[in-house]
Amino acid sequence: MNIILMGLPGAGKGTQASEIIKKYPIPHISTGDMFRAAIKNGTALGNEAKSFMDKGELVPDEVTIGIVKERLAEEDAKKGFLLDGFPRTVEQAEALNDIMAESDRKIEAVVNIEVQEEELMNRLTGRRICEVCGTAYHLVFNPPKVEGICDLDGGKLYQREDDNPETVANRLSVNIKQTKPLLDFYKSEGVLKNIDGSRDIKDVTTDVESILTNL
Ligand SMILES: [Zn+2]
Repeated sequence: MNIILMGLPGAGKGTQASEIIKKYPIPHISTGDMFRAAIKNGTALGNEAKSFMDKGELVPDEVTIGIVKERLAEEDAKKGFLLDGFPRTVEQAEALNDIMAESDRKIEAVVNIEVQEEELMNRLTGRRICEVCGTAYHLVFNPPKVEGICDLDGGKLYQREDDNPETVANRLSVNIKQTKPLLDFYKSEGVLKNIDGSRDIKDVTTDVESILTNL
């Protein structure tokens, strides 16, 4: 079961990833975790990645792809994996296909959790943080008992810079632009599975599971 999970910020990818690995005996492999592990273990590629990151530079594709390749060759990933955050480009997707082919494997499904931009805006701009204790609320999903006030300590709630509508809209449009060619690529490969992520988390999970069960 070799799966890629995709979805824009706020689509609920993290939640679905944790549901999937509860149910199936495959590791959740995120780009961030992979990099951290390679750097911590001091592998040649990890050291190389670190040298770019230390300079504040983007890690080149061949290093990233090398790290992915090493990770996917580990014992726990041999029976399958849930890849998250990679690939980001069609070039990376093609490299991943090559990696898989070398070990007689292939990507079986790319699960894409779809949520309309407007709904993502609602989800992503609704977060409010207590200035005293840092507790996070959400205007729609987890509102405080009294508007603008922390339930725990009466602290004032504020909106983080990252969560303001302009920043969020920018982040989304950059993501949409980046993702589009990748989705087209996997569609042409016949492995793209779109799921309506605007519904209840449980319904989304049910759909994800029915796709995975039928692989
Ligand atoms: Zn508080």
